[in-house]
Amino acid sequence: MEPETSADLPPMLPGIFTPPPYDRNPPRLLGGYCPGCRKYLFPAPRYCPACLEPTEKTNLGSEGTLYSFTVVRTKPPLGLPQPYSVGYVDLPGSGLRVFSLLDPEAIDRLRIGRPLRLAAGFLGHDGRGSSRWRPYFTPLKNQL
Ligand SMILES: [Zn+2]
Repeated sequence: MEPETSADLPPMLPGIFTPPPYDRNPPRLLGGYCPGCRKYLFPAPRYCPACLEPTEKTNLGSEGTLYSFTVVRTKPPLGLPQPYSVGYVDLPGSGLRVFSLLDPEAIDRLRIGRPLRLAAGFLGHDGRGSSRWRPYFTPLKNQL
């Protein structure tokens, strides 16, 4: 997936990943941390749903492992490519398993257990036809 160069367009959902440009740092997922429960949360709620303490913003990194996935071949919503793929990705360190878009150009390389990294690019639109940045996980380049 080759992202366009403009960093001016807003992300689909602000606050869940670091904004472009990515020339110095790759995109990273942003979540929450509850100091009371010592639990990570994604996406970050303002308050912990378990103990109602305010959560702290935290960087969840850009790496993960594919836990499970599916390929969707029906007409996609929001201008997503056809087919596209979604899956659950385990994030190291936080114990989180997040639901995410997967790289539609790497569907043939998706395997359960495969290491992934977060990417971001223009995928689909916002429902009104305007392009939006979306985060998605893609297999590491050196993995066949
Ligand atoms: Zn809590």
